[in-house]
Amino acid sequence: MEELEIDAYGECEKMTYYNREDQFLRQRLQKEIPILRALIQNLYEELDRKLHLNGAKVPITFGYDTDTLGSYTRRSAHEKEHFHFSLLFIAYGVKNPLSKEDRIDLFKHEYAHYMQYNMQIPEKYKWQAGTHGSAWKYCCSLIGAAPTAYYKAGEGLIKHDYDKALTKKFTDKSIPIRDTYSREQEYRKKKNSTVKFNINDDINHPKFGKGTIEHIEQLEGSVRLHVRFGEDLKKIDQKWLLQAGMKKAGAPRHI
Ligand SMILES: [Zn+2]
Repeated sequence: MEELEIDAYGECEKMTYYNREDQFLRQRLQKEIPILRALIQNLYEELDRKLHLNGAKVPITFGYDTDTLGSYTRRSAHEKEHFHFSLLFIAYGVKNPLSKEDRIDLFKHEYAHYMQYNMQIPEKYKWQAGTHGSAWKYCCSLIGAAPTAYYKAGEGLIKHDYDKALTKKFTDKSIPIRDTYSREQEYRKKKNSTVKFNINDDINHPKFGKGTIEHIEQLEGSVRLHVRFGEDLKKIDQKWLLQAGMKKAGAPRHI
């Protein structure tokens, strides 16, 4: 991808340009915060009324996370209780916005995490441990959230089989285990195996100095760059290079 191109002097001209683009996008998305907050709180108030809870009072923060869509954090010694959502996924102004149903499902998903720790869970729903275990699925069943931890487009529209989700582990191999983790993994893997450089691109390595990309190997979950630094040809993981020097260069990515 050319946003990471570096000119012959080792300066990143395009980077500045893309950072500015990124800045504009963030400013634009920032404006959606009041609308999104109202939307979430209205939904949570409605659920609160039904369940006699106070989820709508839990603070909501927003960020620009690229690898998580949302989260619920319990109160602890070092953290305040809060919900958090990434504008890069939930905002309307992104390139590939979530569908209305999937957005609502995401909000419910996080609310179910809140419920899990703030209400009585019947004994019979405690058989499966874990953040996305049976207690959480039970909460999902009460509010109509997808009982799968994996945010899959269209999930919000499916009629869910809670009985099955609440009584069985996913032994059927045709049903992938969908948890946030695997989705993140998949997303990261995809992200890491996307080639972001071109052959003959000049790069600036923090240790070896200026080098030229001679060959690019796209592997499963990573990209290996063969970079010539004078006499030496080094194989460098693209991810490392991006992290080391140009972490902020990329435009925001979406699933
Ligand atoms: Zn979750």
